Amino acid sequence: MRFDLATSHFVDADVDPDAFAVIGSERNLSWRELANASEAWCEAARAKGFAADVPVIVRGDKEAEFVVAMVGALMLGAPYVPIDTVYPDERMQRIARTLDAHAYYDTRTRAFVPLRDGMAPNALRETHLAYIMFTSGTTGEPKGVQIGRESVNALIDWMHHFKLGTAPVFLNLVPFSFDVSMYEVFGMLSSGGTVVLTERSPLESGASPVVRAAEHNVTTWVSTPSFAQRQLLDSRFSAQGLPTLRTFLFCGEVLPVGLVRALRTRFPDVRLINTYGPTEATVATTWIVIDDEVLARHSPLPIGYANREGQVFVDDDELCIVGPHVMRGYLNRDDLNATRMFTRNGMRGFRTGDLGSAGDDGLLFCHGRIDDQVKLTGYRIELMEIDAALCELPGDAPAAAVPLRRPDGSVARIVGFVETGEGDWRLPDALRDWQARLAERLPSYMIPSELIGCRALPVSANFKIDRARLAEDYRGGHFKAVTHAAQPE
Ligand code: AMP
Repeated sequence: MRFDLATSHFVDADVDPDAFAVIGSERNLSWRELANASEAWCEAARAKGFAADVPVIVRGDKEAEFVVAMVGALMLGAPYVPIDTVYPDERMQRIARTLDAHAYYDTRTRAFVPLRDGMAPNALRETHLAYIMFTSGTTGEPKGVQIGRESVNALIDWMHHFKLGTAPVFLNLVPFSFDVSMYEVFGMLSSGGTVVLTERSPLESGASPVVRAAEHNVTTWVSTPSFAQRQLLDSRFSAQGLPTLRTFLFCGEVLPVGLVRALRTRFPDVRLINTYGPTEATVATTWIVIDDEVLARHSPLPIGYANREGQVFVDDDELCIVGPHVMRGYLNRDDLNATRMFTRNGMRGFRTGDLGSAGDDGLLFCHGRIDDQVKLTGYRIELMEIDAALCELPGDAPAAAVPLRRPDGSVARIVGFVETGEGDWRLPDALRDWQARLAERLPSYMIPSELIGCRALPVSANFKIDRARLAEDYRGGHFKAVTHAAQPE
């Protein structure tokens, strides 16, 4: 069986309906069970006032029920808004206010939770959306990326180029609030394959995703390069440990040459695909198989070619994307849409904010960001969103988040600096519980590993806080005597 997005129906009902569709943290579902559960979810949602074009927040972690709710929403025509439990309640509430949501669905309790009483649910201005993904925003508010159903269709068509085989078994590792996870969700739904969900908590407690992948005969590993890098410490992460693995599908951040070399040694026959793209262009836009020839010719590695109906080009050193997979726009952010989106040949276009270049044959390279957006273990973070949270700590002092980078340019961790005025470099007593305060507002991966008091934040020639100088001073040992709550790098 499989799910047909064009008709919102399960089709091929006679083909392996008892094969597993979802291996979840709380239960497993066959294709037949997924179809029944999604239909029942759709009815329950309708009874709660949800309808076509009314967004539905789905909150949870790696329950099979998360997939049930997403598919049920697709059947209803209601765009789903995935929110992982890594997001604190306050962040969820802010997203709910942006959406004007009247309720959300909790996949752990399998219940709709009311958010405001007595008001009819509101439909969005955009119609026929598949989902809305909230990413970090520079103003301190997460931005809602609206992805149309036509964009997901384009993603599904494009994924055929990856040749993942019939009924692939995908390993899902990233949270559903990170759009890379839509590779596995739509890969599984469109092919009649299986998705194996991996809970965050066992990962944090050290349980091995490699063991889970082996247990369920995973064929396609989807993750950020950082995640795979961490698995290299596990000797079971090898062709012998994962005999059914055929493909590594990477996305979300730079794919380091060193990681590819290590993987080529451990998995000589497994294909390695590097894909690139922002959430705003439905998961990814360019791709390339990194084989020995590409590895020998390029360092850093290329992000590949755009095999879409649209195109990718470089304008003023910035990568720009055009095509049906480009978002409909940020929700309620006409200001941003006006500067980041454009139309070309009748298609939507998006300026990525990524520096890029193209070789003579059209091979594309990404050279980092124009702005203050960073990636930390694959998570997309606007430093200005952390700044905004730091500035709201008691004292309302100017503050800045500063990324500390490894020699290869990747971010190892983020340190916060707060202006304390006169006196020494210590933090005032009112800031003792800064971590707990930030945790009320930011997901754990956005909380700086240290907060350092600073007499005055340095500014650059254009009067912006000089993050580079702060990082340099930190590395030079300037703040050594006064660091607080340091964590190992
Ligand atoms: P996200 O919206 O979380 O998928 O993050 C998108 C951003 O991650 C892009 O704009 C790039 O800055 C970066 N990125 C994604 N994939 C790659 C890649 N393969 N190589 C380099 N940077 C990447």
